[in-house]
Amino acid sequence: MTEPKTAVITGSSSGIGLGIARGLAGAGMNVVLNGIEPEAQIEPIRAAIEAEFGVKATYDRANLMDPAGVVELMTRAEETFGRVDVLVNNAGIQFVSPVEDFPDEKWQAILNLNLSAAFYATKAAVPGMKARKWGRIINIASTHGLVASPFKSAYVAAKHGLIGFTKTIALETAEDGITVNAICPGYVLTPLVEAQIPDTAKARGITEEDVKRDVLLAAQPTKKFVTVEELAGLAVFLSTDAAASITGSALPVDGGWTAQ
Ligand code: NAD
Repeated sequence: MTEPKTAVITGSSSGIGLGIARGLAGAGMNVVLNGIEPEAQIEPIRAAIEAEFGVKATYDRANLMDPAGVVELMTRAEETFGRVDVLVNNAGIQFVSPVEDFPDEKWQAILNLNLSAAFYATKAAVPGMKARKWGRIINIASTHGLVASPFKSAYVAAKHGLIGFTKTIALETAEDGITVNAICPGYVLTPLVEAQIPDTAKARGITEEDVKRDVLLAAQPTKKFVTVEELAGLAVFLSTDAAASITGSALPVDGGWTAQ
């Protein structure tokens, strides 16, 4: 029997990351969950993954806002499972404000978590992947890695940067059995999106219902939020051998947003 693969999914105590972690566990991988919530809050989620999918799941509260936290997460994953085969750089935050009022510390925090954490995690994961001649790195970018919206300067800059990083590492690892891709979701109704609705309403002077219909889903021709299960399905496919030639891609899952 071949040893099960191990996946580290950053920011996977909620939302898209959790959906992807459940998808990869469903495909038979051991998973390392990560987030900043207290252990007691995440324990039922972790235990449910083990019970439902018959794999091992751990929860690591490493704070990825600074490089040391990222290194700790990757080191502990290697120590626990002996390998990291799939790395999903998913942890991300958002802040919405006109540029002239954008707080410096929010700019820095978004760049740290949404962009630099992916660099430090990738740097830690690549040597083992190269040694085993197999690896998958999946960066959760955004439609905002491909196109912009007003008032999201730090987020759009970080996500465009993440796609550039994806392409670069894909080229560096192309002959090592490693693929590196970005998934670019449109709007998914997770805590991250729910939290920005009041700020967007304030910035534009409209109601929260108007933000959902006229701002968020206005750009999404399907008029439906993307689901975490749809994103998990793509992440699972990218982790198969059938996807070995897909590398350096930025794959939109956006209900047609970027077709316009
Ligand atoms: P979410 O708010 O539901 O989850 C964020 C996760 O990140 C949580 O697990 C949280 O614990 C973790 N996290 C936050 N700060 C952290 C830190 N300092 N260190 C470690 N973990 C931390 O968010 P989501 O909507 O699921 O978003 C996940 C990713 O998908 C983000 O990168 C986001 O930019 C991207 N994305 C989301 C949407 C959307 O519509 N929701 C669309 C496109 C892209």
